[in-house]
Amino acid sequence: MLDVALKLLREITSNHYKAYIVGGFVRDYLLGIESSDIDITTNATPKQIKEIFEDSCLPNEDYGSVTVIKKGIRFEITTFRKEIGYLNNRKPAEVRYIDDLYEDLIRRDFIINALCMDENGDIIDYLGGKEDISNRIIRTIGNSDESFSDDSLRMLRAIRFATILDFSLSEDIKESIMKHRDLLKSLSYYRKKEELDKIFTSSNYKRGILMLLELGLDEYLEIPNLSKVLDSNINNLIGIWSLLNVTNKYPFNKNELELIHDINQVLPLKNTDPYVLYQYGLYVNSVACEIKNQNIKELNEAYDHLVIKTRKDIVIDSFQIMEILNKKPGKYISEIYENLEREILYHRLNNNQEDIIQYILEKYGGVGM
Ligand code: ATP
Ligand code: MG
Repeated sequence: MLDVALKLLREITSNHYKAYIVGGFVRDYLLGIESSDIDITTNATPKQIKEIFEDSCLPNEDYGSVTVIKKGIRFEITTFRKEIGYLNNRKPAEVRYIDDLYEDLIRRDFIINALCMDENGDIIDYLGGKEDISNRIIRTIGNSDESFSDDSLRMLRAIRFATILDFSLSEDIKESIMKHRDLLKSLSYYRKKEELDKIFTSSNYKRGILMLLELGLDEYLEIPNLSKVLDSNINNLIGIWSLLNVTNKYPFNKNELELIHDINQVLPLKNTDPYVLYQYGLYVNSVACEIKNQNIKELNEAYDHLVIKTRKDIVIDSFQIMEILNKKPGKYISEIYENLEREILYHRLNNNQEDIIQYILEKYGGVGM
């Protein structure tokens, strides 16, 4: 990965521009963590970058930034910039392209995120990033009050990095978050969820949640159930969001909404009940078990012992039902299936044709059906 990145830097510098890897990749490289994408900072404008990487640029709407894909690696190439004034505590009012790396670095969020690497693989550390990494601490570049009121998202980014990297937050950052946490209310739920997703998917998520609680952010993020997550045994994202139960505010896709809905449906039920297991499946029930801190082994065994796992496992089809009752298709068929499922799952009826036919005839064969 590094060799592809250095080669890409050389492609830019051989065109007489400056270019450096910056941010997450350099930070993670020093920590021995594999990165998934690489940020590049350069004094070349997006137009000039597009000229160099004509064939490998993605069409990009983002102002001042070009995405290049090389050998399957995603490079986000951004022009050195100065940000002037901020709107709604989130976005710069004006962005001006500049020629100086240092100036570009000081507009960034944290000292650990302002490390650079040049085309020879040498680290450039103007702001003390290496020292912060060895002290495992997150500090803002410049005054943290100013940094967070310029861009309130940085408060959540600080907690996200502290969680994922298992770093601590500087006292300055903690105090400023307490001071500016009400700004989180005007941040979009989409952005908030992006950061929370990253915190919740970290293996260190419980520490992240503790930080959020200590700083009182559960209230400002409108996730009142947050402390409950600490008492549970959840280890998946959808389980955490189900427990938080904030689908009325935070954005989820259709699939996530269905899962969250189902998990909340089965939470008050007995998850080893054969009918509950059959109806909602193993995944939804095991997430519910994690939330309730219940035994997953027992649940898996109960699932293995289900007589039927889907309607197709019932040894009679709808044509046979119509034939037995001598009737045309109708709603009654699914009603019969629902009863068959329940009877078979609770071992009150054997899943064999003879018994099923007899059951149908006895229950539905009379006049009026
Ligand atoms: P990762 O990619 O692992 O999530 P990263 O540090 O690379 O972490 P990105 O969101 O990719 O984070 O941003 C790249 C760099 O841009 C950061 O390292 C930081 O220098 C700067 N940056 C990103 N978002 C902000 C922000 N909201 N305010 C200031 N600087 C930012
Ligand atoms: Mg990055």
